[in-house]
Amino acid sequence: MNIVTRFPPSPTGFLHVGSLRTALYNYLYARKHGGKFIVRVEDTDRERLVEGAVESLIKTLAEVGLEYDEGPVITAGALSEKGENGPYTQSLRLDIYKTYVQKLLEQGSAYYCFCSKERLTELRSQQQLAKLPTKYDRACLKLDQDEITQRIEAGESHVVRLLVPDGETIFKDEIRGSIKISNAEIDDQVLMKADGYPTYHLAVVVDDHLMGVTHIIRGEEWISSVPKHVMLYNAFGFPMPAFAHLPLILNPDKSKLSKRQGDVAVEDFLAKGYLPETLINFVALLGFNPSGDREIYSITELIESFELSSVNKSGAVFDTEKLNWMNGQYIRAMEPAELFERAKPFFGSAQSLPEAQKQRILEVEKDRLTILKDLEERVEMYLTLPEYETEMLVWKKADAQDALLHMQALSTLLSAVSDDVFADRALIEGVVKKYIEEGEYQNGNVLWPVRVALSGQKQSAGPFDLLWALGKEDSLKRMTRAITKLST
Ligand code: GLU
Repeated sequence: MNIVTRFPPSPTGFLHVGSLRTALYNYLYARKHGGKFIVRVEDTDRERLVEGAVESLIKTLAEVGLEYDEGPVITAGALSEKGENGPYTQSLRLDIYKTYVQKLLEQGSAYYCFCSKERLTELRSQQQLAKLPTKYDRACLKLDQDEITQRIEAGESHVVRLLVPDGETIFKDEIRGSIKISNAEIDDQVLMKADGYPTYHLAVVVDDHLMGVTHIIRGEEWISSVPKHVMLYNAFGFPMPAFAHLPLILNPDKSKLSKRQGDVAVEDFLAKGYLPETLINFVALLGFNPSGDREIYSITELIESFELSSVNKSGAVFDTEKLNWMNGQYIRAMEPAELFERAKPFFGSAQSLPEAQKQRILEVEKDRLTILKDLEERVEMYLTLPEYETEMLVWKKADAQDALLHMQALSTLLSAVSDDVFADRALIEGVVKKYIEEGEYQNGNVLWPVRVALSGQKQSAGPFDLLWALGKEDSLKRMTRAITKLST
């Protein structure tokens, strides 16, 4: 069987991390089985549309590396699409849905409904009062064909509803197993709205079928819609796809992860300098773990090990600490040249420093970065020496006199060293170490005051790193400043 999966977001804003997981699992499943992965835009709810959402979605999927085989793309700055089963935007498929609804009407699986909003609201409140399930009462099912034709011709507003058959609906969920529901619990769902747009339920079934989708993998919140979809598949005589509903993503307090409780937009994570690799790895583990004893997986490993049957049933907690830890791991494991490319937008006020110096600063600071955006703050001390107390220069086992002595001696020594030596971390380290060895000093007597003189901070990168990253001129200026402070 040729596996086809899909990711059909509604363009209502940013890409939620939960949706990224959905897209990823569909991607993993398709890639594992050599199948196809489709992206489709579900824009039939015209009131919720957000301008530019499709473009930003395409861009974000590209940034995290989720390539798809069919769907909307941006070519030469304009929206277009790739694939043979388009259009991949539902608002461009209205004629298709009309044909399919017509089919249902003709075979008696659907019916016209002319009930006004007011009547439906009234019906609902009566049912609620009587503690009955809120369902359409099928008033319009009794209308005869002549009346229907007449009212449509007179331009009366109407919808088309699914005629839910009697009996029960059983379907298998690949993660949750078999699910059974009595059809009596299901409302006669509106399939076609008064504005001529289909509802989600009709469009999703027609499109998944026409696009050859074999596996529907999506969030748990859609599981209650499946019985209606199963009825539609049966009414149309379409072959049934496999369904898999992913567990909810939760906050640490077990509430559902939502925008209000912090950042959930993939765009925002990327903008802060969470690496795409981290996001993919992290969301992959929200509901599934390839081996249970490791946390870091490449996309290739995820593809190889992904199984729908190993996806957890219970909710997955979104653990920001783990995300931060993981991002640090990826930052530190990355090739320096690659990391530098990624970090370029995050140099903040140090943007104008020479490239080579920025590379050195990144190498020195990367151990202290959680997200690349942290760099903006960390570069500050390379531009301006922070104000600091003179006592900070004094090592705990020494005094100001000793600090001054070493600062002066090293300053003289380093003035005679070339810029090239400063540009080589091992060489500049060698010069200072030789000074320590020859004088038989303790490391702390020399390295503590130098490090503070260069950083102006209690905690910072080590003195050799700082000499290397600051370069000769700046290092000497900062040491002179320390000498002045210690001499007054
Ligand atoms: N358009 C739906 C959404 O916004 C898709 C649900 C589905 O995957 O069927 O998530």
